Amino acid sequence: MFNPWSSEFWRLVFYVVTAWLLGLIFGWPVWGLVAGLSFYIVTLAQRFHRFETWANQGVSEPEEFGGILEDIAFRFYRIRMRSRRRKKRLTELLRRWQHSSSALPDATVLLEKNGDILWFNRTASAMLGLKPNDQGRNIGNLIRHPRFIYYINQPEHPEPLEIASPRDISRILSIRIVPYGGVGGETGQLLMLVSDVTHIQRLMTMRRDFIANVSHELRTPLTVIMGYLETLKDDEMFDAATMKEYLARIEAPAQRMKTLVEDLLMLSSLDTGAPPSPELSAIVRVSPLVKSILAEAEQLSQGQHDFVIELDDSIQIRGVEKELHSAFGNLITNAVRYTPAGTTITVSWQPGGDGAKLCVRDNGPGISPEHLPRLTERFYRVDVGRSRSSGGTGLGLAIVKQVLRRHDAELTIVSQVGAGSEFCCLFNHARLQVEKKLQVAR
Ligand code: ADP
Repeated sequence: MFNPWSSEFWRLVFYVVTAWLLGLIFGWPVWGLVAGLSFYIVTLAQRFHRFETWANQGVSEPEEFGGILEDIAFRFYRIRMRSRRRKKRLTELLRRWQHSSSALPDATVLLEKNGDILWFNRTASAMLGLKPNDQGRNIGNLIRHPRFIYYINQPEHPEPLEIASPRDISRILSIRIVPYGGVGGETGQLLMLVSDVTHIQRLMTMRRDFIANVSHELRTPLTVIMGYLETLKDDEMFDAATMKEYLARIEAPAQRMKTLVEDLLMLSSLDTGAPPSPELSAIVRVSPLVKSILAEAEQLSQGQHDFVIELDDSIQIRGVEKELHSAFGNLITNAVRYTPAGTTITVSWQPGGDGAKLCVRDNGPGISPEHLPRLTERFYRVDVGRSRSSGGTGLGLAIVKQVLRRHDAELTIVSQVGAGSEFCCLFNHARLQVEKKLQVAR
């Protein structure tokens, strides 16, 4: 194997021996030896000088330095090239990381140990209001929330912090801080990740309210039933007729609980089930469906309301009949339950908007405008007493909204106090099957 030291050694031997021989010829062998050694040292110094000049330059290929220097230069060149490639790779990685984290939906802020901002992504500008010239400023001077200042000054941050957004107090931000840089974050730098958790908070509140509402709705009829059962326990006090009367009184709250549980089950299956796709759904014939619902509504009305129907037989919906029955049924029975005797209820199914619409219109008392945006909320009622006494659960319009959402349709409510209300279900063209009307030959 090539040994660089041996080439250097032979170089030295060559200079020394040549000079000694020349010295010998001229009769000064010792001076020849000294001159040979000196010459070697001078050329070595020259080679070192060339080596130093080359090493200080960029990364040009090594020149011919000869001997051991040539080997050192070659190794030096290889190491330099390797570290250059690594640096390039790291720069590229960093660039890609910055690029991808810029597009992250979460705000990312890189901080020095003392809280000075090193870098932040685009979302951080939008979410926290950071501006490009905020780089280098301390985060505590920009987000002045006292809980945040306390949090950032803690030595460790095992739990995330939730605060109102500095830009929009109606939004809740979750802030998480993790050590960053070096192995195990020994550089002391911090990575601050901020996500908008407003919708999660809203869902949690909705869930809490929903459970509270369900419990309340079930507790009321249950208390009535329990009351009658307590009284009935002492059966010796009652004759058969009184017992029958009490049992009949238990029936109404039991029925209310049954309806509530059925509505809850319906809502739960609407919430969780996959929506029926327009291509794979069965054709629901709207006219017969509405007519059958109207027959039930007439029974409920007991002749107190006038019904008008305007149905286009040629338009059908691709969807789930049971769900549409429930949605249209809720709108029609609401019109019966919340309007007085003598009201005219008009049910129409006609082309309209981008497709067709089913509308239930009444000229009843109408609804005040402040209630309209909340009508489809679960358990929201305009008049709780009236809704309960007419067998309402407060879930009817929520079910309508969910059924329509699953059928890519929309509910619109127009109402005026004293003039009446109109509830319309707008189905878009993709959900409809329009049959050609038969042309009668003259
Ligand atoms: P409920 O089960 O109580 O009927 P809904 O969600 O079906 O609940 O309806 C919500 C509220 O909307 C009802 O409590 C009622 O006050 C009001 N409402 C619905 N339809 C009408 C209507 N046609 N006329 C007047 N008020 C109505």
